[in-house]
Amino acid sequence: MMKSFKRLLLLAGIVASACSTPIEKKTIAIQPYDSFEKTLTDSVQASIQQTFGCQVDVLTSQSIPQSAFINVKSPRYRADSIITILRREMDAKYDHILGLTSYDISTTKRDAFGNVLEPASRYEDWGIFGLGFRPGESCVVSTFRLNTSYPQLLLERLKKVCNHELGHNLGLAHCTSGDKCVMKDAAESIKTVDYVDLILCSDCQSKID
Ligand SMILES: [Zn+2]
Ligand SMILES: [Zn+2]
Repeated sequence: MMKSFKRLLLLAGIVASACSTPIEKKTIAIQPYDSFEKTLTDSVQASIQQTFGCQVDVLTSQSIPQSAFINVKSPRYRADSIITILRREMDAKYDHILGLTSYDISTTKRDAFGNVLEPASRYEDWGIFGLGFRPGESCVVSTFRLNTSYPQLLLERLKKVCNHELGHNLGLAHCTSGDKCVMKDAAESIKTVDYVDLILCSDCQSKID
């Protein structure tokens, strides 16, 4: 109800953006899929609360939507389909929702004009760490490509990617000011994820306050 009302206002141009609710008044839901490790989910919850200062609820685990399954290069789930489903099924009391999975997720890599990057066979189904639109209501993050035999490192990487994708949902673009800001472009590289700190630089912070 609240959601469709908000949409109507958006259409009418009365409310300029989804960021009209102050960040500390927002509520974010985490949707773990399948047997995603609870200790990881709990740490992500605490980390988002700390970064953005808003309330974060963890929902009961669900099966990952089978309609998102694809097997082009290898068995994966389409991240764009998952975030569409998350957004559609999100309870109206939440402002944003983050899906967590250990399965491989993918999207299509396109240029600024919307064309699939060449070679298309490589980029039409491209494995990713996470995906979230800017601004957006939903995002999804996978541990599949964050893989390391060090549990502590896996958790650090996971928390960074989750905060990064939620930052996009909250309207933040890739950061060019803060050297170690978590909103730096991961540029398809785990090295960048390891390089950044789990913090928003003052520039990014001021944009969501
Ligand atoms: Zn990004
Ligand atoms: Zn920044």
